Amino acid sequence: AIRADRIYKVFGRRPREAVKRLANGAERSSVTGFGTAAVIDASFDVKVGEIFVVMGLSGSGKSTLIRMLNGLLEPTSGSVNVLGTEITGVSEAVLRDVRRTKVSMVFQHFALLPHRTVIDNAAYGLEVQGIPAAERHERAQRVIERVGLSGWEDKLPGQLSGGMQQRVGLARALVADTDILLMDEAFSALDPLIRREMQEQLVELQRELGKTIVFITHDLNEAMFLGDRIAVMRDGRIVQLGTPDDILTDPANDYVAQFVQDVD
Ligand code: ADP
Ligand code: MG
Repeated sequence: AIRADRIYKVFGRRPREAVKRLANGAERSSVTGFGTAAVIDASFDVKVGEIFVVMGLSGSGKSTLIRMLNGLLEPTSGSVNVLGTEITGVSEAVLRDVRRTKVSMVFQHFALLPHRTVIDNAAYGLEVQGIPAAERHERAQRVIERVGLSGWEDKLPGQLSGGMQQRVGLARALVADTDILLMDEAFSALDPLIRREMQEQLVELQRELGKTIVFITHDLNEAMFLGDRIAVMRDGRIVQLGTPDDILTDPANDYVAQFVQDVD
């Protein structure tokens, strides 16, 4: 569904010079004079219908990586292909179209509009696209039921618990009915019990709707529970990519092994 080919993202004054040096084997720490290397030489394929987890500590480059998968950020070098469409070096119009029809994103802090009702929040993306009110309403109603928020349509986000707010965030991403969902620490702000419930429902929903999901987390248990495959990031690099079983039984290095020791 998504193919990332040798992507780099360097923030700073001379990103291309930093990439050149990194590609020639320089250490990340040695290019700080040119910029911050957030993602270094990442290549992977996300398969249709899988939950692909990106796991790593804070600052390892996860958010930067996922933002390159829908064109919110352009790689400094390398290319990204989404469902057959090249999204690197293309116009903003093409990117808007990709975000409208191919990839939706769910954020950690919900990013709901506080003065709009649940249903209007869920329908917001459709409104931006100029879809008529009646159709918007019908589609939003369907996804609201899907995420278990029936009866809450006319409430404001502030009247909802954190878990319910994140359901609204999920509804808003589902309403566009894209094949791919990108989720950046989507459950990290939730209480453990609600969080587990959301994880279970996400797996269920993914099976039923056949979505492809890229899910970011810094939590190994969450990664193990959700992931069909897990990419482990450290300091901007993917240091291991495999099934949860691969990662538990055969950690690629001490860093992954250390991570794995903490699994419940
Ligand atoms: P994660 O999501 O794993 O916590 P991020 O992708 O947010 O990691 O950040 C990776 C690195 O890139 C960090 O060192 C961060 O400070 C840096 N970074 C992220 N975004 C920017 C930006 N817009 N400008 C400069 N540096 C950034
Ligand atoms: Mg992040």
